[in-house]
Amino acid sequence: MLEYTLKRSRRRKTVAIKVQQQTLTVYAPYGVAKQYIEQWLATKQDWIAHQISKQSQQLDTRQRPLQSSQIQLFDTPLSVQFDIGKTSRWQFFSTQSPALLHISCSGRVKNIYAMYQTQLEDFMREQLEHYIEMRIQQYCSVMGEALPNNLKITTYKRRWGSCNQRRELTFNLLLASAPHWVIDYVVVHELAHMKYLNHSALFWQRVSEFYPDYKHATQWLKQHGGGLQWVFGYTV
Ligand SMILES: [Zn+2]
Repeated sequence: MLEYTLKRSRRRKTVAIKVQQQTLTVYAPYGVAKQYIEQWLATKQDWIAHQISKQSQQLDTRQRPLQSSQIQLFDTPLSVQFDIGKTSRWQFFSTQSPALLHISCSGRVKNIYAMYQTQLEDFMREQLEHYIEMRIQQYCSVMGEALPNNLKITTYKRRWGSCNQRRELTFNLLLASAPHWVIDYVVVHELAHMKYLNHSALFWQRVSEFYPDYKHATQWLKQHGGGLQWVFGYTV
């Protein structure tokens, strides 16, 4: 039998079900026997299972390059090929259409998935760093700001970038799967922190001066941020 929460109410005239966040709730008027509810639920089992699986797909939008042979690089989906070779390395064939990323893992490596992941991250880091470096130079000159003292790409769980008092900027590696216009927003946001190390009205004014549509970008990150992650292995 399905697990569900039963909510009864006096005003309700009919029985209804709701599937939300993988849980099932049944709404029923007082006086409807539990046995009747469960018989009725049994006839709805297929529909409920369908709703639950549909919602779980919506919840987990992370990229699975090993299964899909694909990774999103900025605005473009790349084909990725994984294999065992003489050395662990990546090769990028950018002129091919679609562009192809070839990732090899040495046969001597014990944890193949971990090595695939290391190689992919190395490739994505190089692409992102290259793009961000270029944009920092352009935006710094437009904003009349001196270049930052350091630039680092790392993996954060809950932030897209950071800036400290020493004018060192850090960006989340996962941005490599975001469109250029969204990365530009994060760049402007962190560069604006070199003037204001807070989220004051003056700070946001500076962001909007050089990136007027910043609300669109923050919304995009809220909505799609989870899908920028990549997952390796078959069990997760
Ligand atoms: Zn900030």
